[in-house]
Amino acid sequence: MGRVSDSVPAASSSGAGSDPRLTSALVIDFVEGVAAIIKAERQYLTTLDSAIGDADHGINLDRGFSAVLAKLPEVADQDAGTILKTVGTTLVSTVGGASGPLYGTAFIRAGGALAGRTEFGADELIAALDAALQGIMARGKASRGEKTMIDTIAPALDALKAARANGADLLDAIHEATAAAKAGMEATIPMLATKGRASYLGERSIGHQDPGATSAYLMASVLQDTLEHTLTREGGTSHG
Ligand code: ADP
Ligand code: MG
Repeated sequence: MGRVSDSVPAASSSGAGSDPRLTSALVIDFVEGVAAIIKAERQYLTTLDSAIGDADHGINLDRGFSAVLAKLPEVADQDAGTILKTVGTTLVSTVGGASGPLYGTAFIRAGGALAGRTEFGADELIAALDAALQGIMARGKASRGEKTMIDTIAPALDALKAARANGADLLDAIHEATAAAKAGMEATIPMLATKGRASYLGERSIGHQDPGATSAYLMASVLQDTLEHTLTREGGTSHG
């Protein structure tokens, strides 16, 4: 995909084997990117929710991430943990509907994993994503295969860990994770919903893509883009 690491023969700092340095600034970029994509896709998410829910998922998340954007300047110079916890508590307090406490818990847990860190590496990023998923599963008492956001996030994290275990650099691993997130999102279409509002529909929930699985995929794609921009910049080539 024209990445610096594909085209530069000499070792670059984002190449396999070196641990990228991720920062609070990356977290800010990610959160701002999520807010932007949620705003852009707000109607799409709400339309998906109109099929198997109450037509508010895009509205809910846009309200929450707009509040997050207003709050970010207060914490922009803080550590990654503080930033993520602030995002989470803001989502919990501003998003009506199941997705607020669920995504809120995810950000709060990720913030706990990165408490006090202004810089962190790939393993810590993965630990934070893991904490986020565990938080969602605990809060919603749901597991895979129930037609929720978990069906996007869990396979993405599996793919991320598997790629890293096979020696992939973070960018290649995140591409595999995003592909798995997309496949996971699409796999919710034939599923029967057994958690959340969609479960009230029973068999009629089958045949529709889950809105939360879709917003989770959008967030995964933003994480990929954010890492790509940050790490290729850090690669220190003429692209810099
Ligand atoms: P509500 O259903 O309260 O209107 P939203 O429309 O904002 O809330 O969010 C719906 C999404 O939340 C669903 O598409 C699903 O992905 C997710 N969801 C609902 N319940 C759970 C749960 N128990 N665990 C995980 N995710 C859930
Ligand atoms: Mg809804």
